[in-house]
Amino acid sequence: MAKPAIIECPTCQHKVSTTATSCPSCGAVLRKAKRGIFGKLVIFAFWAFNILMVLWIWGGTQGAVQSQAGMSGAEAAGAAIGTGIGVTILIFVWLIGAIILGIMALLTRPK
Ligand SMILES: [Zn+2]
Repeated sequence: MAKPAIIECPTCQHKVSTTATSCPSCGAVLRKAKRGIFGKLVIFAFWAFNILMVLWIWGGTQGAVQSQAGMSGAEAAGAAIGTGIGVTILIFVWLIGAIILGIMALLTRPK
């Protein structure tokens, strides 16, 4: 096993591991934390997924409102219930996806 490399903090000369992003003694920033390419992809996927879900739910509810024109009361009620179930499933899928991507973003965060 290789010994962890030690550097001196330029501000307080405290011995700091090279894996540290800031000095544990004085808090000086030693290097900028960088996200790997996979971490960047996860962040990108997280945002793209959220935007996609918003558009999907918005598009779904818009379509349902339009299709209710010309329906009888019972048909409109049925369509509304169907939309309600559909949106609930979409929000559920959204939640699961957001949790998975959120955990992945946490796991790939800069060390
Ligand atoms: Zn320091």
